[in-house]
Amino acid sequence: MTIPLPKASERIHVAELLQELIRFDTTNPPGNERECAVHCQEALSRAGISSNLIGDDPNRVNLISRLRGDGKAPPLLLYGHIDVVPTAAQPWDVPPFEGRLLDGYVWGRGALDMKGGVAMMMDAFVRAHLEGVNLPGDVILALVSDEEAGGHTGAAWLTDAHPELFEGARYAVGEFGGFSKSYRGRKFYMVQVAEKQGCRVEAIARGPGGHGSLVHHDTAPTRMAEFLVKLDRTALPFHIHPVTRMMVEAMSNTLPLPDSAFLKLLLNPALTGSMLRRMGPVGKEMEPLFRHTANATIINGGEKANVIPSEVTVNLDCRMLPGYDAEDLLGELQAIAGPAIELRAVNFQPKPWIFNMGMFDTLAGIISEQDPDAVSAPMLMPAGTDGRHFAQLGIQTYGWMPMNLPAEFDFLKTIHAANERVPVSALEFGAEALYRLLQRFHE
Ligand SMILES: [Zn+2]
Repeated sequence: MTIPLPKASERIHVAELLQELIRFDTTNPPGNERECAVHCQEALSRAGISSNLIGDDPNRVNLISRLRGDGKAPPLLLYGHIDVVPTAAQPWDVPPFEGRLLDGYVWGRGALDMKGGVAMMMDAFVRAHLEGVNLPGDVILALVSDEEAGGHTGAAWLTDAHPELFEGARYAVGEFGGFSKSYRGRKFYMVQVAEKQGCRVEAIARGPGGHGSLVHHDTAPTRMAEFLVKLDRTALPFHIHPVTRMMVEAMSNTLPLPDSAFLKLLLNPALTGSMLRRMGPVGKEMEPLFRHTANATIINGGEKANVIPSEVTVNLDCRMLPGYDAEDLLGELQAIAGPAIELRAVNFQPKPWIFNMGMFDTLAGIISEQDPDAVSAPMLMPAGTDGRHFAQLGIQTYGWMPMNLPAEFDFLKTIHAANERVPVSALEFGAEALYRLLQRFHE
């Protein structure tokens, strides 16, 4: 069958598509990503590309599409999420769901995380089709729901219910990375190649209960309070993770002396803590890459104002470096807590740690062509992404939504915050980079 060549005007305009996507309020919860996914499906079909909407909740579907390649390389997966985090109680200067274009930026919830990335992928995908690019292998596009709340209707469901859709894929490109970051006058593009794994820990303090009118010491509440203060003031041990080592080496090899030597001292665990402190805000940002973290989030204890509770529990949101298991973390926490506190991991499901740097040089090469003065560095993501679900299928995700951002633009402070926005030039930069990748991905 011959498909008539679509008109060139049907190529996606990446900034306009982002504006349209922002106008679908896909705040999660509840998500309601369906209409946004249908909009993407229509944009693909205008370019002559078919796609399917699938899901186990009709309001929260996922879009899957595939371009055929010549089979020299395994399929490449491009995936992005179309849900966004809430905007409630944030001081926005513009309405967050209007998708306004102002001063060269597209404003609105999801501009960076990650409808901007979805628009870039759609542009590259459609362009490769319209221009008849000879793809080295199939390209699978997956636009998913629910990333911001666990991927239950999105990547977790897809990889569980329909692993056959991704058969043979070894590499994926998704979030979170690709943005440029300036450090000591040099520009780096951070490529996410690994992510930390979440682990919820329950801490339990027990003690004598009693009547609130008497004198009490060393109760469950005070024991828990002591633990939480200690946890606040004691850093968990530093570990030099292989990915963090690669990141620090890539950065320090680029910098002149003495900055390069200074940065390398981070890799000596006896000095890591003091070096991070000396680096100020940048050190604070980097600290989670060197150790597990544990933060108290939900505190429970006591039911009646005049009764001393005999048990207090605290939920700790813990994030572990990849490759470690819950026992390692519990051991480190117990050393701080002492015998008065019982600790246990709740619902912890270890995820395989897939680590394959095979496509890194290709990505770095594309960035060098488009921004010759910049350097790419591998990055460990301190939080979780849908990458962990695709890792279950043995797929290595590269968080690579390339964006050449102005040096003063703080990417990490702008995501999930008020006034989320992205320069149009960064969207065009990323769409071009992804388009180049589709022409040259390999085994
Ligand atoms: Zn995201």
